[in-house]
Amino acid sequence: MTRKLLSGDEAVARGAWEAGCRVAAAYPGTPSTEILEAISTYKDIYSEWSTNEKVALEVALGASISGARALAAMKHVGLNVAADPFFSAAYIGALGGFVIVTADDPGLHSSQNEQDNRFYGLMARVPVLCPSNSQECRDYTMRAFAISEEFDLPVLIRLTTRVAHSSGIVEVGERTEVPLKPYEKKVTKNAILPAFAKVRHVDLEKRIDRVAALSLQDEFNRIEPGSVDLGIISDGVCYHYAREVYPDASFLKLGMVWPFPGETVRRFAATVKELLVVEEVDPFIELQVRALGLKVTGKDRLPRTNEMSQRALRLSMGLPAEKAEPETGVTARPPALCPGCPHTGIYFALQNQKAFIGGDIGCYTLGVMPPHSGMDTCVDMGASITVAHGTDKALGATDQRPHVAIIGDSTFFHSGVTGLINTVYNKSNVITIISDNRTTGMTGHQNHPGTGQTLMGSFGTIIKPEEIAKACGVKTVVVVDPYKVKETRKVVRELLAKKEPAVIVNRRACALHIRLHNPPFKVDPEKCDGCKTCIRLGCPALSFDNGKAHITATTCVGCGMCADVCPEGAISASPKSNVQSPKSSAGSPS
Ligand code: SF4
Ligand code: SF4
Repeated sequence: MTRKLLSGDEAVARGAWEAGCRVAAAYPGTPSTEILEAISTYKDIYSEWSTNEKVALEVALGASISGARALAAMKHVGLNVAADPFFSAAYIGALGGFVIVTADDPGLHSSQNEQDNRFYGLMARVPVLCPSNSQECRDYTMRAFAISEEFDLPVLIRLTTRVAHSSGIVEVGERTEVPLKPYEKKVTKNAILPAFAKVRHVDLEKRIDRVAALSLQDEFNRIEPGSVDLGIISDGVCYHYAREVYPDASFLKLGMVWPFPGETVRRFAATVKELLVVEEVDPFIELQVRALGLKVTGKDRLPRTNEMSQRALRLSMGLPAEKAEPETGVTARPPALCPGCPHTGIYFALQNQKAFIGGDIGCYTLGVMPPHSGMDTCVDMGASITVAHGTDKALGATDQRPHVAIIGDSTFFHSGVTGLINTVYNKSNVITIISDNRTTGMTGHQNHPGTGQTLMGSFGTIIKPEEIAKACGVKTVVVVDPYKVKETRKVVRELLAKKEPAVIVNRRACALHIRLHNPPFKVDPEKCDGCKTCIRLGCPALSFDNGKAHITATTCVGCGMCADVCPEGAISASPKSNVQSPKSSAGSPS
């Protein structure tokens, strides 16, 4: 055994590699993204960014059906997208070990909700493992593959942000090559038609009963005796918080939270005077403890929202907080698009259009804030187009506003395409803007079908959103460069005025991805008349002082958008800049 410093995500990847995993698929999403990024460094595993989580889960399921060990990873809301095959996968089972990792985000660090995916295991009848640190991430992943094959079941590993992103020393081993299990055509198992599925459901309950027996005996669910006055049941990172706050208490540390180890809980409860369940977000463990008829303290005292912490636990339980919240010394500021972000140009073009704008998930979601105020809704991946379609249908001729959807390139491939087909098929007048910054920006610049580069490094066909739009039946498809703000605004206003279905692809690479860093632009105070047109761009490098615009040279990346919109010609490139005018600004659309 050697030791490595690994994050939880990296440890899952290591465990998968050591366990002989052959296929891994994911769609990036914080806090799960690094699992596939780490797996891609192990060349024994075929790895891919799939177009969405449903696709990723089905890819891994296909590999498992064919006899290979396979893994699919996603953030918590990704499992909603993949829920359809997830439930069916439980019926089908696993020939090659099949592990699904969901990384939940209590506290919504980078998510639209705080859902607790332990419930998915209960609903789908799939075992759920909850590691509490990096070592367990590696160990549980390896065990999950073995359990999956032994019990003919997919296994769900549930991480949370703190487990996924914090690092710890991990004892690691070498890879064990696990031969492909011989594939046999078994339609009664793998084709879940109603007649076959009825039988498989009965079989699923038997398989789960067998795992339930394992959960009572296995090392996952560990009693740690301490004071008889208080017994704490906990899982994941909450176990460590509770251990710090109550060092003398007795503990039942749960690693397999479903099937629920009821007999172990009863045995533990009999040894202590009081029971406390410490868990994040929902009362998943608590509900099952209560269902055993045991008296327990849980969410009646502890918070149901946000992350758990030592401090939150102490305060909820009426214990003195050891110390005040650490002073970060960082001044709070509203979220903003980056200097040089191409989404800035399209939001400027949309200003004052009195449009209903359906928004989507990605960096451009920051456009919801002033001065852009560039979206009315944000629901989930792909919902921009479908929500705008719904409002267009509901309001119809009674509404004078154009109905617009704004969606990123990666999100368009993820789940925007079906919505676009729906608008064409069902005839609505939605103007769809695909904000194509040539990468998956929000999660750290992963490739996608529009970049043509795969996770394993090969280059292939670049799939163009404008060609997909035409193939979907959209007649008016225009590609614009959002750095040419005035031109972009002209196109947007013309199309919005027509109230006909159209697609605008605004293409310009993410300023961080291509590391745009031209010499800063500057304002000529003699020419500036203080109209604030440039300020409406929302670029963080622009400010207003003493009636004049000002550019912070250290923040400006020299994109030239402000110069394009200034009606007085008061903004220009620095003499050292190679950017001569906004129309030839650095970084051509690719
Ligand atoms: S747009 Fe031009 S004139 Fe108006 S405030 Fe900005 S720099 Fe000054
Ligand atoms: S050139 Fe203008 S718009 Fe671009 S980063 Fe600099 S200040 Fe912002």
